[in-house]
Amino acid sequence: MIIAKSINELYEAKKNLIGSIGFVPTMGALHNGHISLIRRAKDENKIVIVSIFVNPTQFLEGEDFSTYPRKDLADIEICKMSKVDILFMPSINSMYKKDELIIMAPSIGGYVLDGASRPKHFDGMLQIVMKLLNLTSATKAYFGKKDAQQLALIKQMVNHYFLDVEIVECEIIRECNGLAMSSRNSYLSPKDKIRALTIFQSLNLAISMIFKKELNTKIIKQEMKKVLSKVDKIEYIEIVNRDFHSLESVELQGTIILVAVYIGDTRLIDNIWI
Ligand code: AMP
Repeated sequence: MIIAKSINELYEAKKNLIGSIGFVPTMGALHNGHISLIRRAKDENKIVIVSIFVNPTQFLEGEDFSTYPRKDLADIEICKMSKVDILFMPSINSMYKKDELIIMAPSIGGYVLDGASRPKHFDGMLQIVMKLLNLTSATKAYFGKKDAQQLALIKQMVNHYFLDVEIVECEIIRECNGLAMSSRNSYLSPKDKIRALTIFQSLNLAISMIFKKELNTKIIKQEMKKVLSKVDKIEYIEIVNRDFHSLESVELQGTIILVAVYIGDTRLIDNIWI
């Protein structure tokens, strides 16, 4: 595996490799969710590039940019074991210029749900994803459904900017108890983790209500809220279509049920796709 720490090193490493490129962008502190994306990229491409970059422009003032878990040594080992070809770990200075041309998330999709509570988060996310897709010349890029709104916006950017890359949607990987894997789970104490399980329980409750033909989203959200009584703050419980428009009635194909909560200071998101 080649570790490229600058853009020149990335270009140099790419020169000698021929074939389709599967790209997995991450912010590191790799877990099985990331590894599942890498495996899929490995299965479907000749070359796999993984990036680890904690992107400052997608963090808001007061968020956890400075404390975000950084585990470079362990991550390098994981990438080596996963037979990644190039691990790209650029510095902030190499990725950003002083006065940058900005890509802005669209006002509807980018400023509801996560975008409402984290204004400009998606602008920064799209900015870095655009840069990384261009730098890696990815044939296919792999993203988790866990960040459902992120995935939808990236697909929109690829479409609107005519980017020559296929975006692959990957399933959410969970702990055996149902907790969606996340680098931020490391902030949780064992007791917090037990409270965090109610997130998956609330999503499961929604599914079982839908199975029993309850399609009224207001009623479903009310019942989910009861299951989430032990979290410190519910930021949103939302039921939307694939365009992230709020639904009054569940559509049996094309609905996403999303939850964002706080356990202490830790913000956790999860969702289920129907
Ligand atoms: P992150 O390092 O958190 O920015 O995530 C990098 C990529 O991994 C994104 O496409 C995420 O959606 C994806 N990802 C994170 N957690 C999971 C998970 N539990 N299951 C599947 N994909 C995930």
